[in-house]
Amino acid sequence: MTEKRRSKFLVVRCNECGNEQVVFSHASTTIRCHVCSNTISVPRGGKAEIKATVVGVLE
Ligand SMILES: [Zn+2]
Repeated sequence: MTEKRRSKFLVVRCNECGNEQVVFSHASTTIRCHVCSNTISVPRGGKAEIKATVVGVLE
């Protein structure tokens, strides 16, 4: 199985406060929740590791 390296935008919900925001799937910096500053996305050598609940994908 080959992993497609296509980047996309993800709609995620913060696990701490429930705030929803859009993050880039290959963000190269740490992304924090706009409301409570909980860490939502951590860079992992190209693809970001999402620390929140993904509720949608924007193609
Ligand atoms: Zn939050």
